[in-house]
Amino acid sequence: MPGGGVDQGLGLTSSDAGAIDTRKVYIPGILTFFVYTVLLTFDFDAYAPWIYRKMANYTNLSRGEFAALGVRRILGYLKETGLVATFFVPGHTAEHFPEETGMIRDAGHEIASHGYLHEPPEGLTEEEERHVLDRGMTALKNAVNVRPKGYRSPSWALTKHTMTMLQQRGYIYDSSLMSTDYTPYIPALYEEALDDGRVVKGPLSNMAELPVSWSLDDYPHFEYSRLQGAIQPGLRSVNEVFENWSLDFDYMVRMYDEGVYVLTMHPEVIGRGHRMILLERLIGHIRGNGRAKSQGLEFARCADAAKRYLDGWGVTHNEATG
Ligand SMILES: [Zn+2]
Repeated sequence: MPGGGVDQGLGLTSSDAGAIDTRKVYIPGILTFFVYTVLLTFDFDAYAPWIYRKMANYTNLSRGEFAALGVRRILGYLKETGLVATFFVPGHTAEHFPEETGMIRDAGHEIASHGYLHEPPEGLTEEEERHVLDRGMTALKNAVNVRPKGYRSPSWALTKHTMTMLQQRGYIYDSSLMSTDYTPYIPALYEEALDDGRVVKGPLSNMAELPVSWSLDDYPHFEYSRLQGAIQPGLRSVNEVFENWSLDFDYMVRMYDEGVYVLTMHPEVIGRGHRMILLERLIGHIRGNGRAKSQGLEFARCADAAKRYLDGWGVTHNEATG
C-alpha cells in the first residue's frame, strides 16, 4: 500500500540511556516534499585507491586512468538526457584530472568531498583524518575552485570524529551511512561500540544523511579485483544488477510517498560499454514508473536535496560559502 503502513525499518533501540533520545535521531514518517528524488552519484576515484593501497603498478594506474574516459562518457550521457548528478572527487583526482573535474563543474553537476588519496578514515588517527579532509578540500579549491558541501567517506568507514569535522567545516550532508534506505535523516555526530559491547550515540549533528548501501553500489557487483589475500569476483551480468536496482526503486515507490534513491557508481566501473547501457535502461525504468511520475519524480544534486530536507525539517545548518 502506498503511504499507509510504511515500514521505516528502523528497529531502533535505546542505546545510550540518558544521553540522547534516539527517537529524535531520525525523522521518519514526516513527509516533506511528496517527491521521489533520484541521486545519481559517481565516485571519481581514479588513481587514488590504487596508490593508497600500494597497488599502483602500471596496469592498475591505467585502470584508474580509465575513470577519466568514463567521466567523459557519463557527462555526455547526462547532457543528452538532461540529468544532474553528484561527483565525489578525491583531492588527488582533482589534481591529476583537472580537465575532467572542471568539465563536471562546468556542466552544472555537484563536486563533493571524498578524501585526498581515498584514505578510509577508520585507518587514520584523528589528526591524520583531519589532515586528509583538509588536504582534499584544498585540492578541490585549487583545481576547480569548488568548496564542497557534502562528503562521502572512502570505503564508507566513518570514525567517531568524522561528522564533527564535517560540521565544523560547514558541510550540510554526508552520504556514507546505512541506517535507512530511502529516508534521509539527521545522523548523530558519532556512534560507537564500547569495550563492554554497549552501543552509544553522540548528540545530533545539523547535517542530513543521504543513505547508501553496498547493493546500490556498482563496485562490488562489477569490479574484479585481486586484493591482498582476497579476490573480489565482480563481473556480474548487467541483467541481474538491473533487476536488483530497479526493484529497489519500485519498492520505494510502492511503500513510501517520498524518498531518495541513492545510486553509487564509479566512472571506471559503470563507464564500460555494457554498464552504460545498464544505466540507460535503469533511467528508462525509473522514468517509466507511473506512480512515481504522477506523484513527482526528480533527479537532483545531493546538496540541493540535503538543503531542502534540512530546511523542510527546520534544522539550522551552517553551510559554508566561498
Ligand atoms: Zn571512492
